[in-house]
Amino acid sequence: MILYSEAVKQLRLNRPDRARRYVGIGLSLLAKAKAKKPMPYRRWVCKNCGLPLVPGLSATVRVRGDRKYVILVRRCVFCGWVSRLPMPRKKRSKKVVEAIQGEAHVRIGKQGVTEGVLKEIDRLLEDRGVIKVKVLKSLRRKEDFDIDKVAEEVAAKLGARVEDVRGGTFVLSRRKKK
Ligand SMILES: [Zn+2]
Repeated sequence: MILYSEAVKQLRLNRPDRARRYVGIGLSLLAKAKAKKPMPYRRWVCKNCGLPLVPGLSATVRVRGDRKYVILVRRCVFCGWVSRLPMPRKKRSKKVVEAIQGEAHVRIGKQGVTEGVLKEIDRLLEDRGVIKVKVLKSLRRKEDFDIDKVAEEVAAKLGARVEDVRGGTFVLSRRKKK
């Protein structure tokens, strides 16, 4: 969808009003054509303020849930709109299960997510595709610490996906660049 990607571009240029306008035009064209809303419009638009929801930029995204179902929680950072969408959990790959059960590959300490840590995670993701990250207690003890937030932040910066968050650890995956 051309208009949607243009909206995201405007958002990155810090022009939320233009971003909303592009989304609005896109939606009205779809309505006129009586077309079913395609993906970014269906799930990645704020239903309150009309902003395109880009994880790490205009939205926070969390995945909550148990074995069978996950709940995708999206929150618009501009207006605070929150949406919870339950969906069946995709079967976890063997690699992801192994990472969840195994030892951590990287540790994040008191300094938090530094450039060095990001580089290390980036390199390991490139090598292994799936990695487990442990956040040390020294950082977890901090008052405003939020492991979901840290996991999403790292994932957004490196183009990775949060596969699992539990206790002081999270698992990331990323497709290898060819
Ligand atoms: Zn909004």
